[in-house]
Amino acid sequence: MGVPFIAGNWKMNKTIREAVDFTNQLRNLIAELDDREVVIAPPFTALYPVAEALKGSNIHLSAQNLSDKAEGAYTGEVSARMLVDAGCRYVIIGHSERRNLFGEKDAVINAKIKIALASGLKPIFCVGETLEEREEDSTFSVIERQIKEGLNNLNRDDIRRLVIAYEPVWAIGTGKTATPEQAQEIHAFIRHLMDATYGEHMAGDIPIIYGGSVNPKNISVLMAERDINGVLVGGASLDIDSFIQIIKF
Ligand code: PEP
Repeated sequence: MGVPFIAGNWKMNKTIREAVDFTNQLRNLIAELDDREVVIAPPFTALYPVAEALKGSNIHLSAQNLSDKAEGAYTGEVSARMLVDAGCRYVIIGHSERRNLFGEKDAVINAKIKIALASGLKPIFCVGETLEEREEDSTFSVIERQIKEGLNNLNRDDIRRLVIAYEPVWAIGTGKTATPEQAQEIHAFIRHLMDATYGEHMAGDIPIIYGGSVNPKNISVLMAERDINGVLVGGASLDIDSFIQIIKF
């Protein structure tokens, strides 16, 4: 497995100026760091200015969403090609806020993953169970369904370009983190599922990262787990000090 993958999802926060100021601070503060893959996901409006601010750095840009359509009369949508044009390398797909607040189903997520890959973007594919699903003991079947349907009809080369984020919905923005053991159990399950579905040792190439109330205090214990290859950080990625502490755990 490569270096730890640390991504910040800014959600619907930061103006262009705020995003660029943050980016400039970030690149200065981690200029010497070469043993992390650091990714930031600003809102759409700030993508291009942040891409400009990142030029020559080793930090990569991600979008938070994309259209499942290539182009045309889809008012308000943003295509994969536009994201590549704006400087994105990654795109977050299947985030629980998209699934739960905007009704995105597995089939749409699958279409988004395909169009992202076809355009040269690397999907950060999010899966995770709700509290209700965990309490009724369906965590494993929910994750398995999200993975099988979200990755339907992808080949091994496609799969190699993914990052998978396990984000238990009950831990996102709630201050409740999965214990390292809870997260490790699901990461190991995902790795096993990927190997079983796409061929042995396949999952070794795919970073499987954890998201859900990651902060400077819990990052080290999470990253100490064998199958946790990085983190997707929401709230704590908005503040430069906490994000830097997470990156430099
Ligand atoms: C997220 O939205 O991907 C996330 C993990 O948020 P938070 O860190 O705020 O829980």
